[in-house]
Amino acid sequence: MIVLTPAHLRQIVDLAEAAYPAECCGLLVGKASDTSDVDWRVARVEPSENMAPAGRNDRFEIDPLLRLRLQKELRDGAESVIGVYHSHPDGPAQPSLTDLENAWEPELIWLITSVNKGQAIQTTAHRLVEQALRFEDLPLRTSDWRQVPTRPPVDGLPSGE
Ligand SMILES: [Zn+2]
Repeated sequence: MIVLTPAHLRQIVDLAEAAYPAECCGLLVGKASDTSDVDWRVARVEPSENMAPAGRNDRFEIDPLLRLRLQKELRDGAESVIGVYHSHPDGPAQPSLTDLENAWEPELIWLITSVNKGQAIQTTAHRLVEQALRFEDLPLRTSDWRQVPTRPPVDGLPSGE
């Protein structure tokens, strides 16, 4: 279970809608939790410029300088970079094949926000399992206990990327 505040979820949703029809992306700072039902808590959302080549709306690339800056800043603290988030413009809130090909750090959590015609409709969490061969869904909720569904709420969403 990953927990984030309603404000952080709102921030990610707003960034996903603002970036449409391109993908937004960024890093999640937080820490492992010591309560049994919560594995991670998000403390901060750090937006990144999408460094993927312009003209591609199905790719994202985190700015390596942002990652370096955060790692330096967080070196001696309890918090660390625990995940990445990005959006799927007109695609489902599920990892794509491209995501699987580009995922290389099994310890990172992936948040994916599906944006349909400019409106964010769903955010889901995932992590790599089986030596990074596939993603599995990770339960996600906000700190006000609102459960966030991990499956698309409506049929007929575009599939693929
Ligand atoms: Zn993706």
